[in-house]
Parts: sequence; C-alpha cells; structure tokens
Amino acid sequence: MIENEKECFQLHSSMAEAKSLFKERFEQPLRGVSPEDAEQRLKSGRHLVDFQKIEFPEEELRKLFDDFYTVLKGFEFHEVAEVETLKAAVEAGELNWGSLVKRIYCGDPDFLSSLGERLGVGVDLLTYLGTNLGNPFFEMYAGELQGKVDLEDWLRGSCPLCGSEAAFAKLRRDDGKRILWCQFCGTEWGYPRIKCPFCATENHKKLRYLFTEEEKRYRVYLCDECKRYIKTIDEREIPEEEKSNLSFENLRTVYLDILAEKDGYRRQNSRERAPV
Ligand SMILES: [Zn+2]
Ligand SMILES: [Zn+2]
Repeated sequence: MIENEKECFQLHSSMAEAKSLFKERFEQPLRGVSPEDAEQRLKSGRHLVDFQKIEFPEEELRKLFDDFYTVLKGFEFHEVAEVETLKAAVEAGELNWGSLVKRIYCGDPDFLSSLGERLGVGVDLLTYLGTNLGNPFFEMYAGELQGKVDLEDWLRGSCPLCGSEAAFAKLRRDDGKRILWCQFCGTEWGYPRIKCPFCATENHKKLRYLFTEEEKRYRVYLCDECKRYIKTIDEREIPEEEKSNLSFENLRTVYLDILAEKDGYRRQNSRERAPV
C-alpha cells in the first residue's frame, strides 16, 4: 500500500490515532456480549467473546471510515481511488461495513474476493479497512473482559478473547517468553516457544525459524507439520528505549511474508476458524 517506510509508519500512527479518538468519543453500550456469557464460555473451555454476535452500529462505522478516509487522503496511498469506490458503495447501500468486519473476522476469502471483483477493489485493501474498522470495537470488548482470563497461561494458539488465530508474535524482552498477538482485539498472551500455534505440534524436528542478516530482530517461525508460519520480533534485539508495536511490525515486515510464502508456507488459514 505504501512502500516508503517512514510514510508507512506515519500512516500507521495516524490510523491508530483516529481509532483511539473514536474509542474516546464512543459512548454507546457494547451490545451482544455480557460478562456472564463470557464466564460461561470460559468455563466450557472456549474463548470469551463470539464477535459474530456483536451488533456493529453502522452509523458509527461510517463515521470511523470517514476519519480513515481523511487520513488516507493525506498520504501517497496508492489505492485512494479504490477507497472512494468503497465509500460510494456504502453510500449507495451496496455494502455494509458491519458485515464486512464480521466476514474478515470469521475468515471468508471467497466473500472478499467476489466483493473485491464486483467493486474493482483489492482484497488486501478490504482486509486492511475491515480490520481497522473492527479494531476499536474488538479492543473495547477485550478491555472490558480481559481480567477474566489468565493471559500468561492460556496455552492455545488462538486468542483467549476472540478466538482468532495469532497474527504475530514477540519474544519478550525481560524473559524471552513467547507472546502471541491478535490483530483484531490486540490481546497478547503467552505460548510455548517450541510449539506450533496453528497445529500445536511440539515435534522440534518439524519446527524451525529463519531470519535475515539485515534485520536480526525478526524471525519467522515455520512449521513443517502444517506448513504455516508466524512472524516474530525478538525484543531482546532492539534498543532498550525502543518499544515494539506489533501492529506496526506486522505491516512493515511484508517482505518476510513474501519470503515464507515463496517457500510454500501459509500465513493465515482464513477459511477455517481457529479452534474455540
Ligand atoms: Zn482477539
Ligand atoms: Zn503447525
């Protein structure tokens, strides 16, 4: 979307700011999930929230999209024309942001590719916008429920809050512990380092990682059992004063996705939902 690294960071910061202002302004009750539901789900071994049940206030999503649009226009964003197409489709009632967000959360590549084709908009852009539109809502729910689960000890590859697959990981600075990150609700949780987050194999012969000489702070963990991979930042390799922001690290390391995919590994298994 944007090649220049500095611009990419600025865009990311501006989008993050738009999302955080949106959350500050948002005053409606969070519908569709109750703490009692969450307790119940947890007891039966499931993640806390089923975002399928959330009612997204379409009006609010439109406002947030307008904020994004204002941000994107300020950058050399290649797909501004496509963003305008989407804006027009929403205004004409051909597209509903709430359902797009849900489709992305549930993983429905067929829906995205046929929508993209119909409107002449790339799937990457749809995913980018849909994920960003969903973020403030998912984060607000996660914020309300987070204390209910022990994040150090969840021990699954899918998010304890929303059940999505881990999208990125870090090796924590203090103790080298592996922490997985959810791109929807921003939750971070602990997971063993020698275990695949996707198929749970612990067979060390099937697990390895690669890194590039240029940027040793990043690793790509590969699993030869399920042919999946997860990008990871080793915080011990970055200066003390530098804080890692996994959402940004994820964006800026697209070259590692290309590297892993070229070797036949898949990143997201968007068709199948993560195990509940
Ligand atoms: Zn999540
Ligand atoms: Zn695996």
